[in-house]
Amino acid sequence: MRTIGLIGGMSWQSSKLYYERLNQLVADRLGGAHSASLVLVSIDFDPLARMQAEARWPEAGELMADATRRLERAGAEVIAIGANTMHKVASHVTSATRLPLLHIGDALANGLRADARCKPLLLGTRYTMEDPFMVDHLAAKGIEALVPSKPERDALQAIIYDELIKGIVTDASRKTVQAMIDAAGTREADSVIFGCTEIGMLFPTTAVGLPGYDTLELHARALVDFALA
Ligand code: GLU
Repeated sequence: MRTIGLIGGMSWQSSKLYYERLNQLVADRLGGAHSASLVLVSIDFDPLARMQAEARWPEAGELMADATRRLERAGAEVIAIGANTMHKVASHVTSATRLPLLHIGDALANGLRADARCKPLLLGTRYTMEDPFMVDHLAAKGIEALVPSKPERDALQAIIYDELIKGIVTDASRKTVQAMIDAAGTREADSVIFGCTEIGMLFPTTAVGLPGYDTLELHARALVDFALA
């Protein structure tokens, strides 16, 4: 089994879910007492969140590059950025190592394409929804992602940073996000992307009325496929 190198702490709430899913998927595939071989570099999220908010992306990219080098020294054989947003600076990771980066957008696109979805609603942080890195990544694979309206994007940004990264899950936020998904149905979205690795804390993909694609789950599956290939 290959060793997975995960850059985590973005947030630690979703890193817990990555850890659980990676281990469960390996246990399901190999049986016995098997679990994932992985190393985790878990960063302090507060300084990174400030860099994001102040658009200090090169600095944030350096943080990712440093985490990558630490993972490589610790024996990782593949690198994963355990979040969507920080894929905005994925090139800093690939420049810092010769190890493969398993891009969350590739895992997502493969999941969508396997079910012939071509017009998903993309939910995520403001950076993921508004900067073109994820929309462009999907467009290059023939997938036209829709994003929520500006007031909806602002509301989702607040839910992620004020609540979900702190482990706070409320019915009010569930309703707010569900309303975004319902509105997208009327814009002819054929599916919804949980494009932030904390959104699955609100509800399972099967409970939202449109076919759901959770980037954390798809990323974890792709990583385990790689580790066990
Ligand atoms: N985990 C999140 C994501 O998937 C948000 C936290 C971050 O900005 O990294 O984008």
